[in-house]
Amino acid sequence: MTITENQQTLLRMLPGVDSILEAAKSDAVFDQVPKTVLVRSIRFAVEQLRDLILDDRQNITGNELSDAAVLAAVKKRVHSAMTPNLTRIVNATGIVIHTNLGRSLLADDAIENLSAIAGRYSNLEFDLSKGTRGSRYSIVENIICELSGAESAMVVNNNAGAVFLSLETIAKGKKVIVSRGELVEIGGSFRIPDVMAKSGGILKEVGTTNRTHLRDYEHAIEHDTALLLKVHTSNYSVIGFTADVSLETLVDLGAKYKIPVMEDLGSGTFVDFSKYGMLKEPTVQESVKAGTDIVTFSGDKLLGGPQAGIIVGKKDVIEKIKKNPINRALRIDKLTLAALESTLRHYRNIDQAMDRVPTLRMMTLPLERITSKAKALFESLNNIGDSRMSMALIDIFSRPGGGSLPLLTLPSKGIGIKIEGISANALEQQMRNYEYPVIGRIEDDLFIIDLRTVLDDELQIVEKAFKHILKKVRP
Ligand SMILES: *Cc1c(COP(=O)(O)O)cnc(C)c1O
Repeated sequence: MTITENQQTLLRMLPGVDSILEAAKSDAVFDQVPKTVLVRSIRFAVEQLRDLILDDRQNITGNELSDAAVLAAVKKRVHSAMTPNLTRIVNATGIVIHTNLGRSLLADDAIENLSAIAGRYSNLEFDLSKGTRGSRYSIVENIICELSGAESAMVVNNNAGAVFLSLETIAKGKKVIVSRGELVEIGGSFRIPDVMAKSGGILKEVGTTNRTHLRDYEHAIEHDTALLLKVHTSNYSVIGFTADVSLETLVDLGAKYKIPVMEDLGSGTFVDFSKYGMLKEPTVQESVKAGTDIVTFSGDKLLGGPQAGIIVGKKDVIEKIKKNPINRALRIDKLTLAALESTLRHYRNIDQAMDRVPTLRMMTLPLERITSKAKALFESLNNIGDSRMSMALIDIFSRPGGGSLPLLTLPSKGIGIKIEGISANALEQQMRNYEYPVIGRIEDDLFIIDLRTVLDDELQIVEKAFKHILKKVRP
């Protein structure tokens, strides 16, 4: 790369870190900023300018290299360094369990319990009645058994951990039979064959992608078969000419050959969604009732709690899992336990759970309620009175997300918006980059806000975001 004379002149004009640091002293904005942050931000800004000068496609001029210009860039950098990276957003996608947006929102009392426990010592591993060491797992074991009908239960960091731990405990160095139709990839690098390999279990695939029969499982059983595994195909569906073996049949087969049966339910729920006019998702109780030895599921998918992996099943197997030293690496945190316990307690009364657990509430939110939110937002956006903005109330479909109920679409209400002078893509980006980000979607060249997942008190944030953008694009 050759550096032109002009570029050399500009590079010489670049202010040094010390001179910017000196200039920053007279700007009150930087008073509370730690020196390390300020110096790093200055270095970053100067580096960025150097790159711009050396980039032939940019036409940097001397004006852009003044102390004042560099300080302005430093301010931006400092602001972002001093703002938490993890931030609240408005989920206007209509996807209820959006893995990228934090999956489930916690119920109010789960949040209260979590924050109460966070700032105090607790009996996390202390048996208050005996005054001796206790087990953190016992905090939720009873309620999980009560709700699921299982003999025993155990909780870990997430469901991926639950599957791994179960396989590692039961099938290390031994064979695990799985249908080819159930070799699921969840995304984020969770693939059944890979998890199996890491756990030391040896995958024995049977059947075909669309059809697996009982005889396929039975023929594959060998002296070193440790487990029959059923994986809920939670994020896709094989339709057409299909056949699979029911859990009950698999349990019978397991009993005949004295081989335990495990089911990874993925989402896992205590609620029969068919009672709410939706497709049926297998429930945890049904898996337990079928006689499955181990059932695993997530805490933050349809259950609507914090990130966790729940393992329920027969006492002897769960005891083995509890004793596996790898447990320690997958240990559930006390804040999670606090939130999980409160979430689970709601399920003692399903109607209460449907009302108080946000994931369930959003899944079953009546269309009239969504429509009235959509109308309220439409009204307030209309009241901004900016003729460049055109919008319409539209009928759309939301999705459960989180790899749950893949075929289910939920009729919803949204607003489709266009702003003169900005493309739908640019509008989506500006809403996303607003100080309180609003994440929507684009359909038919419209920016769409699905009101199902927008909370009542977030309507005004959406309104403010639009006002901000309209002001910015004002000609
Ligand atoms: C989501 C899912 C997992 C992983 O659960 P996490 O709680 O995200 O770790 C495992 N198996 C299936 C079938 C799933 O749907």
